[in-house]
Amino acid sequence: MIYSNKTSVRAGEHFALSWYEYRADGDMTLWKRMENTDYEFVAYVPKHSDGYDITLDQNGTWYFSLMASIDGQAHQSDEFCVLVGASQEEADLRLAQEKGMNNTWNMLFLIYENVNIGNFRKSFSANDIARIEMYARDIKYTMEGITAGRMQIGTVETIRISTPITSASSGLGSDCRALTYGPGGDVNFDDLLENRDVNAVAVFAPIGGLPGTGGWLGLAPFKAGKEDTECYVLLINDVDLNVTYYNMEGISYMEESTALVHELLHCVEQNSRENGWEQFEALHDVEENGYRFEHGNLLWYKDLTRNQLKNGHKGFKRISFYVKHR
Ligand SMILES: [Zn+2]
Repeated sequence: MIYSNKTSVRAGEHFALSWYEYRADGDMTLWKRMENTDYEFVAYVPKHSDGYDITLDQNGTWYFSLMASIDGQAHQSDEFCVLVGASQEEADLRLAQEKGMNNTWNMLFLIYENVNIGNFRKSFSANDIARIEMYARDIKYTMEGITAGRMQIGTVETIRISTPITSASSGLGSDCRALTYGPGGDVNFDDLLENRDVNAVAVFAPIGGLPGTGGWLGLAPFKAGKEDTECYVLLINDVDLNVTYYNMEGISYMEESTALVHELLHCVEQNSRENGWEQFEALHDVEENGYRFEHGNLLWYKDLTRNQLKNGHKGFKRISFYVKHR
């Protein structure tokens, strides 16, 4: 932790911070992210530094960067934020906003209508496609309703692709076949990302039943795109026509679409880790947290995403939903 006994700082003023604990997140990073629960700020401090001090920007804002001398060389850290008297979450959000991030996810729905892998041939029916297009229309009110607005859905675009998928290489691990993304992968939609600001791509492909795929309905999180177009990918392999609805807080949710919700929340889990918050209960730990598998897990998703778990354990924070934009 970093600590300082100062309770206020003026622009341009120097003050010293002390630290006594590293956050263990690998040896590759020069700058370690530090969280301070006592003084409620987030800072980045250098690993193996022999001293540093902090200067508040002359513009009077509360954003800092650390200077450090490491092996005789001066280094500057990532920017960090000290908001005296504010919560750590507020500081995290302020920094994210400064970087152009927000909680609005733009989505692209890609419907791969046909699969032709070896002897396995399968196509989505017109009904299947109509169902997926309905998911796309509903995803905004579904996610914003479940999360009470903590996650916003911006643009939602649907594109149908009739060219068959001809290979299914690997999944998230070795135990099942799924799709790989990008140049040389089973599926490559990098060109579709070029002129779009997309945060999550929902890939629908009728590979359910393909030998080696096991029994999964959806998988996530994958990633696609290049550095500036990188986005999350979730994969749904089938569409179930048995639809039931569940009324929660006056809103009717389609329980069947929770496969899509589930995979999108796996993307949020990964996003949360990348934003520095990983102490949440895992999406799969439903019963471990005293919830039951019912209503497509909507009640569990609601409490997890709103950080209101009945047992007091941690769910997602607002920063969990913050994503970059182009
Ligand atoms: Zn899952």
